[in-house]
Amino acid sequence: MKTYDIVIIGAGIAGMTAAIYTKRALCSVLVLEKKIQGGQIISSNKVCNWPGEAEITGADLIEKIYHQMNNLGVEVRYENVVNVAKNDKFVVKTNEAEYFCDAVIIATGTEPRKLSEKQISMAGERPISYCATCDGALYTDQPVAVVGSGNTAKHEINYLENIASKVYHIHHDDPIPEDAVAIFVAIGRVPDTEIFKELVGLDPDGYIIAEENCHTSADGVFVAGDCRAKNLRQLVTAAADGAIAATEAVKYLR
Ligand SMILES: Cc1cc2nc3c(=O)[nH]c(=O)nc-3n(C[C@H](O)[C@H](O)[C@H](O)COP(=O)(O)OP(=O)(O)OC[C@H]3O[C@@H](n4cnc5c(N)ncnc54)[C@H](O)[C@@H]3O)c2cc1C
Repeated sequence: MKTYDIVIIGAGIAGMTAAIYTKRALCSVLVLEKKIQGGQIISSNKVCNWPGEAEITGADLIEKIYHQMNNLGVEVRYENVVNVAKNDKFVVKTNEAEYFCDAVIIATGTEPRKLSEKQISMAGERPISYCATCDGALYTDQPVAVVGSGNTAKHEINYLENIASKVYHIHHDDPIPEDAVAIFVAIGRVPDTEIFKELVGLDPDGYIIAEENCHTSADGVFVAGDCRAKNLRQLVTAAADGAIAATEAVKYLR
C-alpha cells in the first residue's frame, strides 16, 4: 500500500490542474480516474472560451493538459474511488486498492442526470446515450429522439440534425416515438459526490460546500471544479479551483 502527500480524485480539468500545481510544489501526488482523463469536456467538439485558444475541440484541449501533467511525472491510475476515510492518514479506497495520504482533493465533477423510470421503460430495448458527439454517428440517416429542454438539449439536437434522418424533440415525460432507433438524453447534470456524503458537507443538491478557498468541512479535504457549490461551472473556473485547492493543500501539509 503506497503513501502519498496528496491524492486527487478525478482527472478532469480541475483534477489535472491540481496535479500540475501540487507536483510543481514537489509533493508526491496520485491522480485516480474512474474512466479516462478529461472529464465532461471530452465530448465537446468546439470550445471557444479557453484563453489562448480561439477554437479547439475538448479532446485536443485535454490532450495538451494531459501531456503537460504527464511530462511532470504525475502518477495516474485508472481506478474508481469508492470510499475515503480518515484514520491517522486518509485512506482512499478504490475498486482495486487502498492508498494512504495526508490530504485529499476531490475533483469528481458532474455526471448526466439519468432518465426517469417511466422514460426508461418507454425506451424499451433501444439504446440510451448521454453524448450526441460520442454516439451520434452510429445512427446516420436513422430517426432518433432527444429528451430535454435546455441549452444542452438544443446543442444535441443541432448536432444530430446533420447526421440523423429525423430528430424528435421530447420534453419531460412525453412519449418517445416508436420509430426513433436511439434516445439521446440531455436533462442536465448532477454532482458525482454520493460517496463523500459522510466525509464532507454537501448542499441540498449534492454539491460540496466550500468557499473560494476550496476548503471543505473536513480538515485536509479540498474540493475543486464542478462538484463544488458555486455559481459558474466552466473550464476556467474548474482550472482556477484546481490551482487554489492545490495551493491550499500544500499549505495544509506544510
Ligand atoms: C457538452 C459540454 C460542453 C461544454 N462546453 C464548455 C465550453 O465550451 N466552455 C467551458 O468553459 N465549459 C464548457 N463545459 C463545462 C466544462 O466542461 C466543465 O465546467 C468542466 O469540464 C468541469 O471540469 P471538472 O474537472 O470540474 O469536472 P469533470 O470534467 O466532470 O471531471 C470529473 C472527473 O472525475 C472523474 N470521477 C468522478 N467520480 C470519480 C470516482 N469516484 N473515482 C475516480 N474518478 C472519478 C470523472 O470520470 C471525470 O473524469 C461544457 C460541458 C459539457 C458537458
